Amino acid sequence: MNQPESKCSCQTPTAGRYDRQLPLFGREGQEKLANASVFIAGAGGLGSPVATYLAAAGVGKIVLLDCDTVEKTNLNRQFLHRDADVGRQKAESGAEKLKAMNPEIQVNSVCDLLTAENVENLIGGCQIIVDALDNDKTRRLLAAFAVRTGRPYFHAAVSGFRGQFASFYPKDGPCYFCAFPEAEDENESNESEQPVFPIVGATAGIIGSMQANEIIKYITNAGKKQVGRLFIWDGLSNSFDVIEIEKDAECAVCCKN
Ligand SMILES: [Zn+2]
Repeated sequence: MNQPESKCSCQTPTAGRYDRQLPLFGREGQEKLANASVFIAGAGGLGSPVATYLAAAGVGKIVLLDCDTVEKTNLNRQFLHRDADVGRQKAESGAEKLKAMNPEIQVNSVCDLLTAENVENLIGGCQIIVDALDNDKTRRLLAAFAVRTGRPYFHAAVSGFRGQFASFYPKDGPCYFCAFPEAEDENESNESEQPVFPIVGATAGIIGSMQANEIIKYITNAGKKQVGRLFIWDGLSNSFDVIEIEKDAECAVCCKN
């Protein structure tokens, strides 16, 4: 029996991967994504959507950092990990899923705790820094490094039905410390060490997706940068509040040094 000639124009299994986004920013934008390198701190609730959408969009190099192992209690939101991954390093488990999703990009996993001593070495040549963390102490370390080295810093945090995100750009608007000058009490801010850290998976999905959207816009020069705008999501009332953040002339991180 004669088989009808295939009309599929796909030459390889990966042809056409970006067809639905090319009309938005063209081959030039796609090349910018391919040439971009993104450091994602956290392979958990926020890291899952951010890393997934950046990998799917074709960001050429992703470095995924997490020092924790997958626990059963992570699985309601950290969808990079499966039941069978419980006990594995999150960074490795996450990187494996991203590579399976898009074999055309480079994904590196780093199973380490971010410290003042290793931050430069771990971020290496990555141009963009993503905060998908769960504690203020490491956020401040990462945000200060971003200011010091002139890198954009994409912040997000979630708890319960609430979440927030803000994008901080070098030489353009405030920095993270202008927005949050006071360090949180370490015992309160280290959510991962609280006995129960309540979070709905969809909250992390919404905030992480918005974070990924801003990063894709930044890389491809699409739309408008949300300079100095802190977005606060309340999932119970389905509302977004936007707080305008001014650059603080007294900021010890971006102004006084
Ligand atoms: Zn500042």
